[in-house]
Amino acid sequence: MELEFFGAAGEVTGSCHVIRINGMQFLLDCGMIQGSRKDEARNHDPFPFEPSEIDAVVLSHAHIDHSGRLPLLLKRGFRGPIHTHNATKDLLAILLEDSASLAERDAEYANRKRKNKPPIEPLYTVKDARQVLGHLNGYRYRKKIEILPGVSIQFQDAGHIMGSTSVEVWLEEKGVQRKLVFSGDLGQYETPILHDPAVIEEADLVLMESTYGGRRHRERNLTYAEMGEIISEADHDKGNILIPAFAIGRSQEVLYTLGRYYEPWRMDRWHVFLDSPMAIEASKVYWDYPHLYDDEATKFRKSVHEMPTLHNLHLTSSTAESMVINKVRSGAIVIAGSGMCTGGRIRHHLRHNIERKECHIIIVGYQAPHTLGRRLVDGEPEVKIKGQWLQVNAKVHTIGGLSAHGDENDLVRWFKGFKNKPPVWLVHGETKAARALEQKLQNEAGTKATVAEKGDKIDLAAISSS
Ligand SMILES: [Zn+2]
Repeated sequence: MELEFFGAAGEVTGSCHVIRINGMQFLLDCGMIQGSRKDEARNHDPFPFEPSEIDAVVLSHAHIDHSGRLPLLLKRGFRGPIHTHNATKDLLAILLEDSASLAERDAEYANRKRKNKPPIEPLYTVKDARQVLGHLNGYRYRKKIEILPGVSIQFQDAGHIMGSTSVEVWLEEKGVQRKLVFSGDLGQYETPILHDPAVIEEADLVLMESTYGGRRHRERNLTYAEMGEIISEADHDKGNILIPAFAIGRSQEVLYTLGRYYEPWRMDRWHVFLDSPMAIEASKVYWDYPHLYDDEATKFRKSVHEMPTLHNLHLTSSTAESMVINKVRSGAIVIAGSGMCTGGRIRHHLRHNIERKECHIIIVGYQAPHTLGRRLVDGEPEVKIKGQWLQVNAKVHTIGGLSAHGDENDLVRWFKGFKNKPPVWLVHGETKAARALEQKLQNEAGTKATVAEKGDKIDLAAISSS
């Protein structure tokens, strides 16, 4: 009985862990590495296991840094089932297809420059991505399923995006039983739309994310006040507001928030553009799962019959519609991907607005090192977009309180749900953040915390929580 850390160990993206039991192997997540070109090139590397020998995959949620290498896994020989939540199954159909067409476009672009050299293959194609869908098994929360002999799992709500889960894993080999809990990505408490992360009371071992270790988000009400202020400042400046957002999760919560504060924020003065075909599709999935909403969102939805209640919302799917937005000089709020500004339509909008001091950029999600989004957060005075150096004259605001990830207090609160103080391994965090959470868990929760490193192996039979 063994666990090996492969991805998202010492970094945030590329979530993937291997469990070996009873002569079988299964994965927790199979995510894509996101960041600089150099970081992303690692996605092409061979897996440290033989994909055809993997018997199953358990997928915590749809985000591409958890799911993005599934098409590659299949392309390289995996043939088993992929177990996940029902909503994730729906979201993946949209997300993987987008990820694949991006990979195809990247390869095409690179090959145009290579001329006589042998062509580069895309990481995977749209056809590869569609293969994944046939392997998906969707479940609801709190249903225990046996996925392999001696291995049962149960999904619990992680409150991070629609369908996000923490996974309880029961393992049995030669009469030895262990229970492992994989946190997946954990949301904040009391966020719009989603439920709080579920309390799990028992585990022999916990694998936990640490994205915001050492960091505190602003309180919700202050976050909304800050957002309202930025909108009113931008109105005064007569500029545009750009919000780079992940198509799944952030985009819907931002829209929901703008709808909820329609009157106090005087949203009637603005035109809101959801400028992402993928976010538009994903929003439909969000509205399809009202039974997963928390009480407030359910009440809100009933009162207006639809979500969100933005009278001036424009869903711009086509490229032509998107290009028209570039002519708008003021009064536009543009929500577009990619979330870390590494590609997608947001780069066009940045190019048209970033040098204008009357414009505002609101960062609402995690930005990996070396991405354009991170450079903006770090206050770099000049950035390169599509080969062109541009001055950052627009005002950049970072609103941590709108993040899909809990801050360190949220993470400790979730961990304290365990009654028996199980040992915890920290994944999915830059080293500094993971180290900070390691200290905090040791001091405040009185448990043994360890920062996982790629290639670390844990003998699960030797773990004892008592
Ligand atoms: Zn996530």
